[in-house]
Amino acid sequence: MAEVTLPDGSTLEIADGSTARQLAERIGPGLARAAVAAKINGRLSDLLTPITGQATVQIITPKDDEGLKVMRHSCAHVMAEAICQIWPGTKLVYGPTVEDGFYYDIDLDEPIRPTDFERIEQKMREIVEADRPFVRKEMGRAEALEKLAGDKYKSDNIRRAEGDIISFYSHGEGFEDLCRGPHAPSTGKVGSFKIMSVAGAYWHGDPTQKMLQRVYGTAWPTKKELDDYLHRLEEAKRRDHRVLGRQLDLFSFNDAGPGFAFMHPNGMIIWNAIVDFWRAVHDRYGYREIKTPIILNEDLWHRSGHWDNYKENMYFTSFDETSYAIKPMNCPGGCLVYKTTKHSYREFPMRVAELGLVHRHEASGVMHGLFRVRQFTQDDAHIFCTPGQIEAEIIGVIELTFELYQAFGFEDFHVELSTKPEKHIGSDEIWEVATNALKDALKHKEIDYKINEGDGAFYGPKIDFHVRDCLKRSWQLGTIQLDFSMPERFGLVYTDNDNTEKTPVMIHRAVLGSFERFIGILIEHYGGNFPLWLSPEQVRILTISEKTNDYAGVVEAKLKEANLRCTCDCSDEKIGAKIARAHGDRLPYMLVVGPKEAESGAVNVRIRGGKENETMGIEEFLRIATKKIIDKTADLALNS
Ligand SMILES: [Zn+2]
Ligand SMILES: [Zn+2]
Repeated sequence: MAEVTLPDGSTLEIADGSTARQLAERIGPGLARAAVAAKINGRLSDLLTPITGQATVQIITPKDDEGLKVMRHSCAHVMAEAICQIWPGTKLVYGPTVEDGFYYDIDLDEPIRPTDFERIEQKMREIVEADRPFVRKEMGRAEALEKLAGDKYKSDNIRRAEGDIISFYSHGEGFEDLCRGPHAPSTGKVGSFKIMSVAGAYWHGDPTQKMLQRVYGTAWPTKKELDDYLHRLEEAKRRDHRVLGRQLDLFSFNDAGPGFAFMHPNGMIIWNAIVDFWRAVHDRYGYREIKTPIILNEDLWHRSGHWDNYKENMYFTSFDETSYAIKPMNCPGGCLVYKTTKHSYREFPMRVAELGLVHRHEASGVMHGLFRVRQFTQDDAHIFCTPGQIEAEIIGVIELTFELYQAFGFEDFHVELSTKPEKHIGSDEIWEVATNALKDALKHKEIDYKINEGDGAFYGPKIDFHVRDCLKRSWQLGTIQLDFSMPERFGLVYTDNDNTEKTPVMIHRAVLGSFERFIGILIEHYGGNFPLWLSPEQVRILTISEKTNDYAGVVEAKLKEANLRCTCDCSDEKIGAKIARAHGDRLPYMLVVGPKEAESGAVNVRIRGGKENETMGIEEFLRIATKKIIDKTADLALNS
C-alpha cells in the first residue's frame, strides 16, 4: 500500500502504484474532473504518475497558479497542432506560459495574420472536442537527439534541457512535441481560450538569427473568466495613462528628451499631493530628509561598484577635464552625507530619506509613457543600523509600505524575495546573514512570499512589493535591499557601545518606486477619476446665468479659504453644457449656483459620473469635502 499525506494533513491508503488520477477519484469525483496535474512529494507531475510508498500529494486544478499554467501550456500544444495542421511546413521552437496566457514561437515563412486567428481557433476547438489524451514518452538524451536530428530548434532545446531523461508529449495521432511537462490529462481540459496577437521574435533574442513568429494566446478555466479578462484588457486600453494624461493635461513627452517626462501644472498638483502625504507618513515613522547632487565625480561610481556593474545604464558628462556621472541611484550621495559627521550606536537606527532624481538609460524599445522612463524621482531612503536592528527596521519599512499602499486603494499585494545573483559583490557569508534577516522579518509579519533565486541586486538580497490594481494587473513598486558592502566601500563607521569602530548595515528602500511611474499607475488604476485629495481641480462652480456671478465669487472665496482647489465657470453657455464639460474634465464636485441658491447661501451639488443633485449650505459642503480630503476617501458620495 502507498500512504498518502494530503495538503490538509490527513492521510489515505491506496494500492501501491495507483496513479494520482485514481487518488483524485478516491477523494471525490468533482476533484477528479477538475484535476490537471498533481504535486507528488513537491514535484509537479502528470495525473498518470504512479504513487508509491509514503508520499505527500496535492491534486492540482486550474484554480491553483501551477494548475493554470499546466492548463495554459497544454493549450499552447493544442494551438501548435492547429497551426501545424493549417501550415504543414511549420517548425515549432518553444511555447512557455506567460502572465495571463502563453505563446508559441514558430518558424514559418508565411506570416500569420490576425485574420487567421479565427481559423486557428476553429481547428483548436476540433482538437479540444476530440478530448484526446496527452501521452508522455521518455527516452535517453542520445536517442532523443537522434530522433530530432535535423530539427535545429528542438535539438537545441534538448541540449539545454536538464537531466538524462528527455520527454515527449503527444495528444493523438500525428502530433508530438518535445516537452518537459507536465500536461493536463487530455485536450478537453484546456479551458476557454483565445489567440491574442502575433509578433516577431528572435531565436533566444539573438538578432543575427532568423526572425520567428511568436503567437500569443490566453486560456482560462471558464468562459466567464475569459470574458472578464478580455473585458479588463478593453478597460485597460480605455484607461491608457498616455491618452488620459493628454486629455487631462497632466504630462507630456517631447523628442527633445526621449524618455524624460514633462509634468504639467495638473500633473504637478497630483505629484505634490503625493509628496505631502509621503512626507507626513515618513515623518511619523522617524525619517529625516536630505537632497544630494545629481552630477557627481566619476571616481565615486568606481568606488560604489556602479561602474563595474551598472555603467551601461549611466549617463556621463565632463567639464574642467574631469569626468562626472549623472546619478542612477541616490546611495553614494547618501553615504557622503553620512560621512560628514561622526556617528555613535546611540543615533541608530538612522533613517534618511531622499526624493532623488535619477537617470537610467533604458533601450528606446522599452519606453512606454510614464511606465518606463529614463529620468525619474525615486522615493528613496537609507537606513543605517546595527546588525541587531535589521529585523525591526525591515518590519518598520513593511508597515510603512502597507500604510502608503492602502491610502491609494491598493489592498492586494504580494512579496517576492530575491537571492544572490551570479554577478555580485560581498562574501557568501554576508549574503546569507542578509537573506536570513529579510526572511525573519517576513515571517514575523506573517507574510507569504515567493523566492526568486539569483535575482537579487549585485550588492545584496532584496524584498520586492507588488500590488494589483483594480484591473488585477500586478505592479512592482517597493523594494527593500540589504547592503553590507557599500558602507565598507565608502568607509562608513560608527562607534559601538564597546567603544570600537564598526561598519553600519545599510538598508536601501523605496516604497512607491518611481514617482513618474507611480502616477502613471494611479491614472490607470483610477481611470482618471482621482479621489478628491488627488484631483487637480476638486470643485467647479457653475453659474446658471450672469445674475449669480457675484454669488459664485463669494462661494469661490470660501472654498479657497478652506484650501480647496476650485475654479468658476461663469461663461455664458447653457448650464447643461457646463455640467457636461465638468463631467468630461473628471471634476469630483460641481456646484451649480442660481438665484435660489444665492438667496439662501446654498449650493446645488453634483458628483462626477452621477445624475443626481443635492442642495446644501456652503458650510455643510465644506465640512464634507474637507473630511474626505483628510481621510483620503475615494468615494465621493455626500452621505458617506
Ligand atoms: Zn509542452
Ligand atoms: Zn540606495
